[in-house]
Amino acid sequence: MTAQPHMLTMPLAEPALSQAEIDALNVRFADCTAQEILAWGLETYGDRLVIASSFGAEDVVLIDMAAGISRDARIFTLDTGRLHQETYDVMDAVRTKYGISVEVMSPDTVTLQELIRAKGPNSFYASVDNRRECCNVRKMQPLRRALGTADAWVTGLRREQSVTRTDVQFVEIDDSNGGIVKLNPLAAWSEDDVWGYIRDNDVPYNKLHDQGFPSIGCAPCTRAVEPGEDVRAGRWWWEEPELKECGLHPGYFRDLAAAAEAAAQN
Ligand code: SF4
Repeated sequence: MTAQPHMLTMPLAEPALSQAEIDALNVRFADCTAQEILAWGLETYGDRLVIASSFGAEDVVLIDMAAGISRDARIFTLDTGRLHQETYDVMDAVRTKYGISVEVMSPDTVTLQELIRAKGPNSFYASVDNRRECCNVRKMQPLRRALGTADAWVTGLRREQSVTRTDVQFVEIDDSNGGIVKLNPLAAWSEDDVWGYIRDNDVPYNKLHDQGFPSIGCAPCTRAVEPGEDVRAGRWWWEEPELKECGLHPGYFRDLAAAAEAAAQN
């Protein structure tokens, strides 16, 4: 698809959407392709829309789509400083293939120095509080900085990723991040859809996916999973599931715990 940079010069819509408008958009988007939903976001919000990417499978699909719609699409990533080499490799591959820049959000230097000086480089294994503190410094603070420049953000969340994500909508209001719009163009996609798109379009992807890593985060906090294990089982595997929360998508692990409790009661 030919790049259409003029799209980003279109007048911006009022960012704040009412619930009625959200509901109407979700009905409309049920008949749209993921590309059409993403194009709507780019046209509506221009450079006030950011695409979040950790370079997982869904993220590289979104990058490929966005590059086909507008070379000016803003893509950001949270470089925690603890990522796998394979993640940096796919970041480079994406930059080369699409000729795009990636807004790399790093932790605040002074805050990170103080954390490591006080608690060492691997404090996250010692307690949940320590792990959340590290995620806050390395992920949440940079995320807030990135979203502070946006009226809308795009994620690769899919309903099929977990029984607790079955209610992911194409468009949502993100109350956890200042009430900006959250766009999930792949909400209705299956895992086969994702990998079919990657194969058909020769999209660069993280080679850790070939080594049993369905979900990829920081190197010291991510491991491969066995066949049949939950896709998130390889993240913070030493913690109880209900405590696994880094804050990027609040509610996921809380919902997981609630679902487990409900299942136990049935
Ligand atoms: S995933 Fe692990 S290393 Fe990465 S920010 Fe969270 S605690 Fe720190």
